[in-house]
Amino acid sequence: ALSERFESAWKSLRGQNKISAANVQEALREVRRALLEADANLQVVKDFVAEVSEKAQGAEVVSGVSPDQQFIKIVYDELVSVMGETNVPLKQVVPGPTVVLMAGLQGTGKTTATAKLALHLRKQERTALLVATDVYRPAAIDQLITLGKQIDVPVFDLGTDANPVEIALQGLEQARADGVDTVIIDTAGRLQIDQAMMGELAQIKDAVQPHEVLLVVDAMTGQEAANLTQTFHEQIGITGAILTKMDGDSRGGAALSVRQISGQPIKFIGVGEKVEALQPFYPERMASRILGMGDVLTLVEKAQEEVDLADAEKLQEKILSAKFDFNDFLKQTRLMKNMGSLAGIMKLIPGMGNKLSSDQLQQGEQQLKRCEAMISSMTLQERQNPELLSGSPSRRRRIARGAGYGEKDVGKLVSDFQRMRTMMQQMGQGNMGMPGMGGGF
Ligand code: GDP
Ligand code: MG
Repeated sequence: ALSERFESAWKSLRGQNKISAANVQEALREVRRALLEADANLQVVKDFVAEVSEKAQGAEVVSGVSPDQQFIKIVYDELVSVMGETNVPLKQVVPGPTVVLMAGLQGTGKTTATAKLALHLRKQERTALLVATDVYRPAAIDQLITLGKQIDVPVFDLGTDANPVEIALQGLEQARADGVDTVIIDTAGRLQIDQAMMGELAQIKDAVQPHEVLLVVDAMTGQEAANLTQTFHEQIGITGAILTKMDGDSRGGAALSVRQISGQPIKFIGVGEKVEALQPFYPERMASRILGMGDVLTLVEKAQEEVDLADAEKLQEKILSAKFDFNDFLKQTRLMKNMGSLAGIMKLIPGMGNKLSSDQLQQGEQQLKRCEAMISSMTLQERQNPELLSGSPSRRRRIARGAGYGEKDVGKLVSDFQRMRTMMQQMGQGNMGMPGMGGGF
């Protein structure tokens, strides 16, 4: 697996205390080799590695995260970013019909994907009409009709003598008449890109003005996916892609090329011959697939956790150095929320995890919410100088009104906060307890 390749690269980083130009070189070379092995396109890989190199060398050193963890997170994040961050669903225009044009070489899985897509839409209560324009191979029309029957979705065809543009136009008419939600136009492909095929596709596109042009790419094509995407995007203009045959042993290097080159997202992946075998494309899943391992995700998560923890440690330093104010308190509660639950962060603090019951934790989270509401109603000055509040009932009244709590609640928050701060300072180095947990406001 690629993990083994990376393993050796990480070694050059492990044990170093910082990512530097010198020690990152070997790791970068390994990333490059690994991506090429995953069948990504050379130019795409070059651009990718250059980007990672820049980010890695500019990366801020995070305490508690080893350089190899930090590096792999940079690679992973960049992979996700190149592939588009999130899933982009199929467009839906209102009023319909939404028109989808399928494009791609022969044998990539266009006809199969046409049926898969219709089934996918039906699961979302959307209706579809499939249009068969591949008139060059009689079997192609039959194939679509058979698939349509299987999933109980109508297929429009005019036999093999009709003109593909005419079929597409009449199919669209039919869909309008029937009030169908989405028209999916299956097209002919050639074994190689040729002008006749491109010309016909362009004509169909001009005629029906599709909302989506989906390039169907066989994941096994590897490197070729880059040229293919470029040609189709230049000559036809695509809005997205479907990456098929991801159930094979392809590592998905093609996934990197498609968006990098066209700027358009992969929307679905095909994972088998059956009509059900279509899944939305998720960049994060593909990134870990390209890196080739489950443990990468764990590593990345661990690195992330430790980045959060480093923030938490900074705050604790502040607590101990007596500069802790309501702003810090707010930051801290938000940090806790980011990290999930209070229970989660308690576990990260040595010796705290087991001391609190789940009831206490729940109470703690509720108290945090109340505190957050009250602090949000304070002015900046008040947040920085909690003392302002102890001497001013009118300030406390104003905050109470703003937060929707009683004046007494605000008074208690202030006195508890001050008591806690004094306590924290007295505790000094030894116990790094979190404020407000045990005693409560
Ligand atoms: P077209 O020429 O582009 O219309 O391609 P077809 O839809 O006819 O598919 C060509 C072959 O690929 C057929 O045997 C399909 O069953 C197969 N196929 C299509 N999509 C997938 C997929 O996601 N996984 C696998 N394993 N086979 C697929
Ligand atoms: Mg076909």
